Amino acid sequence: MFSEYNTVNKGIVVKLYPDEIMRNKINQNIGNARFTWNKLLQEYQETFELFKKQGYTKLQCNIKTFNTMLNMLKTQYSFLYESESSSLQQVFRDLIQAFKRFFNNTSSYPRFKSKKNPKHSFRIQNNNNIKIQDNIIVLPKLGQVHYRTSNHYKKLLKESKINNVTIKKEHGHFYAVFNIETNVETMDYTYNIVGIDLGMRTLATLSNGLKIANLDTRHEEKMIKKYQKSLSRKKYNSTRYNKTLKTLGKWIKRKNNRIKDAYHKLSHYLVKKYDLICMETLDIREMFEQTDYSKKLQNISWYKLLEMIKYKCQWYDKIFIQISQWHPSSKNCNVCGYYNKNLGDEKKWTCPHCKTQHDRDINAAKNIKQEGYRLLKEKNKMNLRDWGDSTVILLRDWGDSTVILLSWESTSP
Ligand SMILES: [Zn+2]
Repeated sequence: MFSEYNTVNKGIVVKLYPDEIMRNKINQNIGNARFTWNKLLQEYQETFELFKKQGYTKLQCNIKTFNTMLNMLKTQYSFLYESESSSLQQVFRDLIQAFKRFFNNTSSYPRFKSKKNPKHSFRIQNNNNIKIQDNIIVLPKLGQVHYRTSNHYKKLLKESKINNVTIKKEHGHFYAVFNIETNVETMDYTYNIVGIDLGMRTLATLSNGLKIANLDTRHEEKMIKKYQKSLSRKKYNSTRYNKTLKTLGKWIKRKNNRIKDAYHKLSHYLVKKYDLICMETLDIREMFEQTDYSKKLQNISWYKLLEMIKYKCQWYDKIFIQISQWHPSSKNCNVCGYYNKNLGDEKKWTCPHCKTQHDRDINAAKNIKQEGYRLLKEKNKMNLRDWGDSTVILLRDWGDSTVILLSWESTSP
């Protein structure tokens, strides 16, 4: 039945303090990863062009093809041997993923990586050769590098199984992102359901009327703009340029960290308080095609929050339901079901049929909750995308109240 612990994957970011020798090694690895990415992408495109001339419409990109290409590159460019070998294999794995996302219409066509991009990285698989000590990380082929993080993370890193580590360079700062396997204790059931409406004015509105405001990051944004402007006036790669780049990086990181922290707190609160969380589906394709930059950022940030709630539901044995994006959650009266086709952008409206006064967002959240609950009730065994072969059994059905009892029966071995 219920397990007390679930094994989950977590990403842990620590800041690195490499000395000059290490910085050079990291830069070399980053350069090699970028070089390999660009060469493989170019190679793929050229081969595909040849294939097209012979009438083929698709060229499979698989591990075998890219591995052969990589080995050919290595014989041509011997400096690639200086890279940790799994980090170059990771490049074509990432490239295959990028093509997969492109063919699934969830991402744009893989692009060449530019040296001028302030973000670079490479990933190393752990073949029992990554060692964590108190202040030092030992990386295969690269050697020792100083790091700093909280005691809690240090302990976690030492006790957990490390799958891989990504070494990142962002705006002149260095980080290591560890992908670890760890256990989380499942949470107690609360038998509560919630519908969540995401919005521009209010970040999230819950079906019980609670509104969660957007984080105020105006100060960080002001500083980011200031340093971006100042960076554009400096000579690329000059001492003053690199110094400004680092300061800019600090502000970008500060803004992102504050948002990430707020999202972690919100998603943790939600999975702790509710057993069934219902949200709308976000259209990823629309997100990529969005040309209004601020709307695009808003969409991406909603998507991040949603993904966070989703994986935490999985961690803690809670249920996550995404309702169809075509469900008219805003325009339906949650009391009588009347469809108000004339509703515009009004924050408040009164149902012409049952005269209920609505707050737009709360009404939408209530509809999302009702729809999620209806889906669960109707299908009983529904297509729970992320729950594998688990079956949802409703032991008690108390109408529209928030009390349901759940149990899981796994059909997988
Ligand atoms: Zn009504």
